[in-house]
Amino acid sequence: MNTNQYEKKLEQLGAFEIASKMLKVAKNNENHNSFLNAGRGNPNWINTQARLAFTRFMAFGVKESERTMLEGNLAGYTTLDGISGRLNDFLDLSQKEDAFIQTFIDYGVDVLDIDRDALVKEFTDAIIGNNYPVPSRCLVNIEKIINVYLQDTLYNGVSLADSTQVFPTEGGTAAICYIFNSLKKNGLIQEGDRIAINMPIFTPYLQIPKLTNYKMVEVDLEAREDNDWEIPLGALDILEDESIKAFFLVNPSNPASRALDSKLLKRIKEICEKRRDLIIITDDVYGTFVDGFQTVYAVAPYNTLLVYSYSKLYGATGWRTGCIAMNKQNVFDDLIARLPEEKLKVLDKDYSIVTMEPRSFPFIERLTADSRSIGLYHTSGLSTPQQAMMALFSLTHLVCHDGDNYIESTKEIVAKRYHNLFEGLGIKEDNTRENAKYYALIDIYNLAERLYGENLATYIRKNFEEIDFLLNLAKEEGLVIMEGVGFAATPGTLRVSQANLADDAYPKIAKRIIELLKEYDDKMKTSLEEGH
Ligand SMILES: *Cc1c(COP(=O)(O)O)cnc(C)c1O
Repeated sequence: MNTNQYEKKLEQLGAFEIASKMLKVAKNNENHNSFLNAGRGNPNWINTQARLAFTRFMAFGVKESERTMLEGNLAGYTTLDGISGRLNDFLDLSQKEDAFIQTFIDYGVDVLDIDRDALVKEFTDAIIGNNYPVPSRCLVNIEKIINVYLQDTLYNGVSLADSTQVFPTEGGTAAICYIFNSLKKNGLIQEGDRIAINMPIFTPYLQIPKLTNYKMVEVDLEAREDNDWEIPLGALDILEDESIKAFFLVNPSNPASRALDSKLLKRIKEICEKRRDLIIITDDVYGTFVDGFQTVYAVAPYNTLLVYSYSKLYGATGWRTGCIAMNKQNVFDDLIARLPEEKLKVLDKDYSIVTMEPRSFPFIERLTADSRSIGLYHTSGLSTPQQAMMALFSLTHLVCHDGDNYIESTKEIVAKRYHNLFEGLGIKEDNTRENAKYYALIDIYNLAERLYGENLATYIRKNFEEIDFLLNLAKEEGLVIMEGVGFAATPGTLRVSQANLADDAYPKIAKRIIELLKEYDDKMKTSLEEGH
């Protein structure tokens, strides 16, 4: 295979697979540069408070268990009576993590109106992990906590916590799989259906619909650089077309890292008032990185299903913590009720093994049941320690009084790195509120033109595969970046993650990109001379 053939083949792979191939190449780079991976969205920070509280609760839980049985390493079950008093005795309030535990238990009792012993018992057992998740979908008090967290961080002042139900999942990843699966199984999306997608977008939303068992037709709502990566307002008109069954949205977007502005939200609200049959799936995992963020779920709760993940904000990708949230009144249940009788009969048969009233079995319970092939509904649900960790992450935010320093710190980190990168490249920063700055999209042709003139941009476009620049960045400069094309961004865009590297790596990234462009410029000049 020559270089061109190899590059063409490589371009067939998904963006994440290409990046993982680049890793090896970059580690052995020709210039012996330090290896830099700016491809990954995995953050390099963690939240310590929730983690420390988790270990203290585990220690308390073991002590509680030893009260009822104790034979060497064998202990019994915990008991409800007086458990909160015993927790108080256990806590050493001079320790930060213990003071945090006391504060959030008080918060649960005083603000969320939860019984003190019941709350302590739920956390204790969840963290020991001595019971199947009951109810399967979500532990009851933990659901209240997650609901208030989602409301506080994503709804921008709209009260929906009481009317929202949550299904915790193994990260946003599992949420996405479960959603596609249950939409299909319940006939809400069928082969050949048209779905709208905001592009460029996180690769699975492009890849899954194309798989042979889905065969959906995508309609692109394309955000472009010349509109600051925002969807043009007029593009939303397509959602009025009743042949569009669903709208899949990542907001703030990935890779462009841009939140919908208030005009777009208003327009979506208007459309949803007319189109009571439109399904919206919004993935808001970067919502907290935007000041005054508002999710589509807050403006169109009936039509919208929300995906959230704790992975990015809390540096918790290994924990696998995320959720699906939806309103008690929702389009999904109403569309199921209106399915043809024939389809309903088939669904009745499947779900009747877990409910006596399959016709009123809500979509969120179907998601839970389907996640374990229905037959294992009774042992479904996210592991209880993971559910507890989600609640602990949420509580670190909820018990802050004068603004959340942790969330502010994560915003400052990505903003500083974004600034370092753009300053190094000599590109004007986009400091509008909607820019989450978690990722940056760099248009390599524009940059070539700006730094070395239009000829170079044309030369690169004409003579090289899109992936050539990326491959050379890895091979020569030891730098891994993801290509935007895999996310359906315009050719020549690179996605740089501001999450994954030390602050001082970003000027280096800029320098290496510029150095490589210089090499292409030199190549161009040599080839021109040879041509003459
Ligand atoms: C990272 C990411 C996810 C996956 O989140 P996990 O909770 O780690 O599985 C989902 N959606 C988007 C847009 C992401 O960027």
